[in-house]
Amino acid sequence: MSERAAPFYCPYCGEEDLRPGEEGHGAWECAGCNRAFRLKFLGLLARGLDGPDTEGKRI
Ligand SMILES: [Zn+2]
Repeated sequence: MSERAAPFYCPYCGEEDLRPGEEGHGAWECAGCNRAFRLKFLGLLARGLDGPDTEGKRI
């Protein structure tokens, strides 16, 4: 999985005008609300990728 995931919207104000932050990897700055934040990949969920699809196939 790529670690270059980029946010499409600011999680705080919803602004789309984001740019890479100066804090380094995963840091972003929002031009809308002037916040700086960091994205961090925490790991895969234990339930895997089955999702609702598996539920639907049960009888
Ligand atoms: Zn913002």
